[in-house]
Amino acid sequence: MVQGYDFSGSVQAWQRAKRVIPGGVNSPVRAFGGVDEKPVVVASGRGCRITDIDGNEYIDYVGSWGPLILGHAHPKVVAAIQAAAQRGTTFGAPTLAETELAERIVRAVPSIQKLRMVSSGTEAVMTAIRLARAHTGRDYILKMNGCYHGHSDCLLVAAGSGLAEHSNPSSAGVPRCFAEKTIVAEYNDLPGVERAFEEYHGRVAGLIIEPIAANMGVVLPDPGYLKSLRQLCDYHSAVLIFDEVITGFRVAYGGAQGLFGITPDLTCLGKIIGGGLPAAAVGGKSAIMNLLSPLGPVYQAGTLSGNPLAMAAAIATLDLLVEGDPYGQLETAVAQLQAGIEDAARRTGIAMRILRAGSIMSCYFTDRPVRNLAEVKATDIALFKRFFSGLLRNGVYIAPSAYEALFVSLAHGPADIEKTVEIVHKVFEDIRR
Ligand SMILES: *Cc1c(COP(=O)(O)O)cnc(C)c1O
Repeated sequence: MVQGYDFSGSVQAWQRAKRVIPGGVNSPVRAFGGVDEKPVVVASGRGCRITDIDGNEYIDYVGSWGPLILGHAHPKVVAAIQAAAQRGTTFGAPTLAETELAERIVRAVPSIQKLRMVSSGTEAVMTAIRLARAHTGRDYILKMNGCYHGHSDCLLVAAGSGLAEHSNPSSAGVPRCFAEKTIVAEYNDLPGVERAFEEYHGRVAGLIIEPIAANMGVVLPDPGYLKSLRQLCDYHSAVLIFDEVITGFRVAYGGAQGLFGITPDLTCLGKIIGGGLPAAAVGGKSAIMNLLSPLGPVYQAGTLSGNPLAMAAAIATLDLLVEGDPYGQLETAVAQLQAGIEDAARRTGIAMRILRAGSIMSCYFTDRPVRNLAEVKATDIALFKRFFSGLLRNGVYIAPSAYEALFVSLAHGPADIEKTVEIVHKVFEDIRR
């Protein structure tokens, strides 16, 4: 399709990887299975661009799935990591940098009084769930269909048939008895949540949600939805957990909770707060956080938690996010991108809707509203695949899945956006032909 990028080096490298790594990748979406393509193997990244091992260059709208709000290899972040590495890469003992990062997060997110650093978003969520259960003495967790919270057992569940009733494991290897402790409701379906709370009266420990969903593509909360969830959790004495692993420091410095003015009890952070290295955190009310070992009875630990390189990268990143008006700059760039793509779709007669929150957005090939997972699934996925393939072959790298967001960074300048829009228009024309 369209113009020729030569991927032969990547194809070879992937064959080689597949002999020693399942599927040749260390995280499944990287295999490009969702778009019927073979993965490109990345050699380097700088600013808003990445280069693969065949020497093909792409304008990157994945940004490592969210962490790289400053773009690739930002000089100040790289320098901070280098300086930290010179002092030693890990100690398994407290360092000042951990407190310095924690103080910045507490200042940025008012609902967080204390936090604990972990190494991945999965771990942060796992710990939040354990805390919610310990705090309430209850077992059940309520989640929304299509929200992703990492790959821990009790969150790899899908809605079963019937109302908010029996959920099913969405992965082999998850015991049914674990999955049964998780109730699944549809995103933006308030009556569904009310029914679940009634059905499991006095047994729901916590409700976890991405306040802006970004793992089924970007799906926005209906007006008042999050506020009602807060009220329902208060009424049923359940812990409200915001999974802001993507939205934290992304849609605003204080995350989606700052944007909507909702105070969750616990918040999960990751991606941006690692500054491109593995770090994540769970934080919230002191009364709940103090349940963590060594203060309290909830066990949680990590050999590399609060890793000095990750702390240095994160501090450098957060400090750059309070200089000048980065969120205003992002808004300008991404609004230009959105308008350009929408205009290209209009001019080529392609039915498309963009949903966007700050610098994350999704292009859905549909003329209908998109408010939940079923409506995302009803969009034209085959057309998305052609869109993806066309972009890839013309030097624009977006997430290889119709169920993911597109991430814009501060390294995307007006010229990069303009070039992207030109390529999108060309790809739409080719699709139309
Ligand atoms: C990425 C993500 C996670 C998992 O984080 P990992 O670091 O990949 O374990 C959890 N929740 C949300 C909302 C995410 O986007």
